[in-house]
Amino acid sequence: MPATVDPVSALLDWYDENARSLPWRAPRTIAPDPYHVWLSEIMLQQTTVTTVKPYFEKFLTLFPTVEALAAAQDDAVMAAWAGLGYYSRARNLLKCARLIANTHAGRFPDTEAELLGLPGIGPYTAAAIAAIAFNRQAAPVDGNIERVLARLYALETPLPEVKVQVKAKNEALVPQDRPGDFAQAMMDLGATLCTPKRPNCLLCPWQGICAARKKGLAETLPKRAPKKPKPHRTGTIYWLENAKGEVLLHRRPDKGLLGGMLCFPSNGWDAANDSPLPTLLGNRQASQNGWTQLEAEVVHVFTHFRLTLNVQARTAPKGFRKPADHIWLHPRAFDTAALPSVMMKVAKAVLF
Ligand code: SF4
Repeated sequence: MPATVDPVSALLDWYDENARSLPWRAPRTIAPDPYHVWLSEIMLQQTTVTTVKPYFEKFLTLFPTVEALAAAQDDAVMAAWAGLGYYSRARNLLKCARLIANTHAGRFPDTEAELLGLPGIGPYTAAAIAAIAFNRQAAPVDGNIERVLARLYALETPLPEVKVQVKAKNEALVPQDRPGDFAQAMMDLGATLCTPKRPNCLLCPWQGICAARKKGLAETLPKRAPKKPKPHRTGTIYWLENAKGEVLLHRRPDKGLLGGMLCFPSNGWDAANDSPLPTLLGNRQASQNGWTQLEAEVVHVFTHFRLTLNVQARTAPKGFRKPADHIWLHPRAFDTAALPSVMMKVAKAVLF
C-alpha cells in the first residue's frame, strides 16, 4: 500500500467487506433504529460484545420498543438485566426510556449535545449514538478506537494522558459522509485485527501507513501506567432461613453499590448496608447465638475492590419479624429474582 493512502477511505473500504455482524447493527440499506443503537451502547458500557449479545436479544423480545420499555415494571427490567452488572445502568435505562416516551414522543434526540442531557448517557455514548444512529459528525473514542489510533500515529504518551491526542486525531479524521460507519469501522478493526496482543497487521488496511508497525511498537501501544493492586475487603453474609425454607433478602437503597438489588443481609464490606441481624438475633460469638459458620467462602471482584465473603447460617427463631426492606424468598425463585452475580455466587456456595 503506498504511503499516501488515505486512512479513512482505506478503513471504510475494509469495513464494507469485513464489518462484524452484530444484532444491533442495521443492514446497510436500512436506517439504524435509534432504540437499538442506544440500548446496545448502554449495555456495552464496560461489558463485552459476547456478554451483551444475548441480553440485547432478550431485551428486544421483552421490550421491543422504547415505549414498551418505558411501560415495564422496574422489577421486570432489573430481573432482565441481572448478571450484566453495573446496575445503575439499568436504572438509568428505565429513567431515560420514560423520558423519551413521555416527553420526546418516543423519539431520541439526534444531536450529541441533547443526547448528553439524558440519564445514563455520557460523552462517549452521546457521540456514539449521534454518529451511528443519526450519522452526525461525532467522534466517539472507546478502548478499541483509542488503541488503533495510538498505533496508527505511534502515540507514545501513556494512558490516560494520551486520550487528549487520540481525541484530536479522531476528530480530524471523521469523514462528513459516513461518520457512523467510520466509528464502527475503527471499533471493528480494534476488535478483530488491531487486538491488544498480537495484532494481525498483515490483514490490516493500514499496514502500509501505520507508524507503530513501522517502528515495531504495535503491541506496546497504547502505553499504560503500572496497575495499582485492587484493595481487598472482607465481609459476612447472614443466611437466615424460615420454617418454609425461604431465605431472608435485603432490598438495597436505589443509590450506591448494587443499588436497588436484592442481596443477602451482610456486614463488614459496605458500611452503608450493614445488616441489623446480628443485633436483632444477639451479637455474641457465632457459635453461641445459633449462627453456624459455613465452609463456603465466596470471592468476587468488583471494579474497585476484591471481596471475600464468609457465610453464617441459622434458622429464624420463633416470633422473628423481618426488618423493613427485607423479604423472604425461596431459593427456587432466586433465578428469576434480580439477584446480582455476587449474591448468586453466595447462593450456589451455600446450596450446592
Ligand atoms: Fe494495528 Fe497493525 Fe493495523 Fe497498525 S498495522 S493499525 S498495529 S493492526
